[in-house]
Order: sequence, then C-alpha cells, then structure tokens
Amino acid sequence: MESDVKLAPNPAIADLPLYNAGMNIEFARKVSGRSQIAALASNENPYGCSPKVRAMFASDLFDPSRYPDPGCTALREAISARTNVALENIVVGNGSEEIVAAISRAYLVTGSRALTVTPSFGLHEIDPIAAGATVTKIPMTQDMEFDIAALEVALAAKPAVFFLPTPSNPVGCTLGMLQLERLAAATSPETLFVIDEAYFEFQNEVDGTRFLGRSGLNCVVLRTFSKAYGLAGLRVGYGLCSNAGIADMLKRAKPPFDVNSAAQMAATIALGDQEWMEASVAKITAERQRVALQVTDLGLFAAPSSANFIFVRTPKPGYEVAQALLMNGVVVKPWKEAGFDNWLRVSIGTDVENDMFLTALKEVITP
Ligand SMILES: *Cc1c(COP(=O)(O)O)cnc(C)c1O
Repeated sequence: MESDVKLAPNPAIADLPLYNAGMNIEFARKVSGRSQIAALASNENPYGCSPKVRAMFASDLFDPSRYPDPGCTALREAISARTNVALENIVVGNGSEEIVAAISRAYLVTGSRALTVTPSFGLHEIDPIAAGATVTKIPMTQDMEFDIAALEVALAAKPAVFFLPTPSNPVGCTLGMLQLERLAAATSPETLFVIDEAYFEFQNEVDGTRFLGRSGLNCVVLRTFSKAYGLAGLRVGYGLCSNAGIADMLKRAKPPFDVNSAAQMAATIALGDQEWMEASVAKITAERQRVALQVTDLGLFAAPSSANFIFVRTPKPGYEVAQALLMNGVVVKPWKEAGFDNWLRVSIGTDVENDMFLTALKEVITP
C-alpha cells in the first residue's frame, strides 16, 4: 500500500522477534471444537484469585470514575510492609513486564550489552533489543540447570544489564542462595543485576531482597501478582530496587497512569490474603510433583521445577505435540527458541486439567 511506503518504521522495532504468547482459551475452543479446555500455556493460577478480591469488585470501594494514584501509594506501602524494602525503592508497573521494558529503556542505549540465559523469558531479550542493545544468552547446562561458571565469565565483561529469572521461565530450575551469592560477587557496579522472581512464591530457596542492601551491587528484584496471586488479567507487578535513584529512573521510563485503580486495589487486597495464596501454591506444588512423576513414567524428561510449570523434552517437534494436545482440548506452550524446538512448557492446572494433559500426552506420544 502506498501509505505504508511513505512511513519510515523504526527498524529496531520492525525486526523485533514477537513474544510467544500462550493461546487464548476462546480461540482454543474454536480450533479444537471442545468446550472444556485445560489452559496450561500461561502459568496462571488455576484456582483463580482470593475471594476478597472478587468481593472488592462487587463493593462500593472500587470507583472506576477517578484516575488511579500514579504513585500507587497504598499498594507500595503494603509491599514495603511485607518485604521490608523502603517505600522510595519500590516501583509498581502494569505487570512486571512493564518494569522489564522500563529497565531496558532506562539503562540501555544503542550498542549497550545485556546478558541473560537460554532458554530465556522472551521479554528479557526483546526489550533490550528494542532499546538498541545486543543480548548475550548463556545456555543452561546439559541437565538444565544454571551454568554459574559461564555466567561468571560473562559478567566479567560488565554488561549494562543482567536479567536473571529464578526460578527460570521456561525451565523452572532455581538457584540456591550460595549460587546467587557467586553471581552477585561476579557482578560489577556497572551492571544492573535484575533478579526476576515472578515465581518467588512457589519456592523457598532464594530471596533476592537479601542482595538489595549490598554495597557495590546495583540490583532490582522483580515480582508479580500474575502467578501465585492469580491476578494476571489485571496486570500488576513491581520492582524492588537497591536505591531510590534506580526507582526514580524506572518511574521516568514508564507512563504516569500505567497501573489502573482496579489493579492497585486488587493487588493490595491480594497481598493481604497470604492464606489464600499459600493454600493455592501448596495445591499447585503437590500437583506439579504428581504430573512430573507421570511424565517421567511415560519415558520423557521433565526438568526439575520450582515453579508452577514443567519443561518437557518431547520425542518429536514440540509444535506437533502441542497441536495434537490442542485437538484434545489441552493448551500448552511449544518452545520456539532456537535449539529448543523439542520442548514444551506445561503449566500446572487443577487436578482435572492435569489429568486431561496426562491422558492426551500418553496418546500423542505412543507410536
Ligand atoms: C510471567 C512472567 C513475568 C511477567 O509477569 P507480568 O507481571 O504478568 O507482566 C515476568 N517475568 C517472568 C520470568 C515471567 O515468567
């Protein structure tokens, strides 16, 4: 079209890899012709969210006619009380993904170098590239654990930003505190060390906030309400920063009214209902163990996971397996990163959803 020819799109954006989003449930119903869908592609909480959050939406407490508080004050106070991080070091975003983007915009320019792992969380690569940076990805070891020695070597080259998801998405492996210590010790003050703890609540081995006060280390710990708290549709996550200077940079790098009032209020309430969150995490981790065991019994390798999903190596291309599972009403995420075409990431759902997955998988991989 002629109008397109006259435009001059930013090539850094035009060439960006697309984020590999999980398939929408309605679309899955249409394609599979099934009404009951096991939605296991996006690591959501299969039990929904706290009933206290649902009650808020039905009450007069929530007033959609007013602009949200751009400072997210009440929510930041609740986060500060729970994490012991000072109020001025906390930034809230429209999902923690917005903070990944803000970090990239605030600390990367054309020619900067960023570091992450592979297989990787898509946005840890896409957002730095959008900012003009090049991204080095350090592969996991053969048995799908973090390669600490290789990461130490890469950190010695002083990348501007290091995105480390622990537990990893998509693998699910987690670092121990001693390993995180090694990486922190290898990180120069010229590197912003971003510990993405989207799955923090599903494990009890590491707590990145212990690194926030360390002198000579510039750190942001990312957490989200999308996974354990079950608020993925509301889009709210946060960053805990080493100092107010970093938090201030991230605030400047994002829009002022990015976190809507429903999200702020719901997240504050969800954080106050630890009991609901912990109960759902307990059910999910128990199911994860059962599913991983059964997948292993089918002769497939599932990487050890400390999150609400498992990463499974398949005997044929992951895309084909995912397509066959879809026809049985089971939506999973085939991994699209180079070198990982034979892997699926499967979220842990309710016991009924997990059984749908296990039954379909057995059928699909049996020759
Ligand atoms: C899900 C996820 C996020 C993003 O969560 P939102 O708060 O929903 O934007 C960030 N990082 C990792 C590693 C994730 O898996």
